[in-house]
Amino acid sequence: MRTLAVHGGAGPWEGPVRATADAGLEGALDAGWSHQTALEMVVAAVRALEDNPVYNAGIGATFNSAGFIEHDAGLMEGTTLRVGGVGAIRALVRHPIDLARAVMEDGRHVLLVADGAAEFARAKGVELADPAIFETERRRGQLEEWKRVDTVGAVARDADGRFAVAVSTGGYTGKLPGRVGDSPIPGAGFYADDRGGAAAGTGRGEGYLRLALCKEVVDELAAGGFAETAAEAAIARLTRRVDGTGGIIVVDSRGEVGIAFNTPHMPWAARRD
Ligand code: ASP
Repeated sequence: MRTLAVHGGAGPWEGPVRATADAGLEGALDAGWSHQTALEMVVAAVRALEDNPVYNAGIGATFNSAGFIEHDAGLMEGTTLRVGGVGAIRALVRHPIDLARAVMEDGRHVLLVADGAAEFARAKGVELADPAIFETERRRGQLEEWKRVDTVGAVARDADGRFAVAVSTGGYTGKLPGRVGDSPIPGAGFYADDRGGAAAGTGRGEGYLRLALCKEVVDELAAGGFAETAAEAAIARLTRRVDGTGGIIVVDSRGEVGIAFNTPHMPWAARRD
């Protein structure tokens, strides 16, 4: 039995953009579903989301306070707990999740940032991006209007009971240059462990970092918790403990999906065998 769940970011999603964001998720599910292993499923789904400018990730990433893009992304698989993260990379690679994957597969480090991550991308032959694709005036105008806080993520359980999670983001509009959020930090913005399940967060990353929220959720699943109640409890904690805003998607060992958010909307979709 396979399960794949994706989200397009917790946020205000006001106006016509909400329907566009909801509609874009089917393509991400299709991309992920064409693979069999949890790891391939989440990477393919997130790559598809990074290609859709409606989301705050990849080519649609939002601008920081200095007017440029810095991507964060993270990836984890729950069998051997391998993790890769990249932070504050400047609109360098076509798919930030590919660079996170390269960090994970290289295995020496868990997290690379800024110029070192750029050098690593070149050395590993990760597909680079033409900076022009990110910075159209149209998108800049739209971003100011649409993009405040959102990100993209995917969680999966495959037929062999393996879990994986992938997340990718531009952070949020007006963040300080050099700011790294929860999305490349295992335990905060994402976590996977075959003993319990996988979780991906979205929202103001500082709250997720302070609570190590995704690790808490997966620990609850490992102790026998259900995806839905664990997701709801996590967002209740986020609200209560740190006055945070955001959402979470979770998959447990039964293949059940849990979804919770405390923002006006969080586009999400899931598929199960
Ligand atoms: N969590 C991301 C960050 O704080 C943003 C988001 O998910 O909307 O960088």
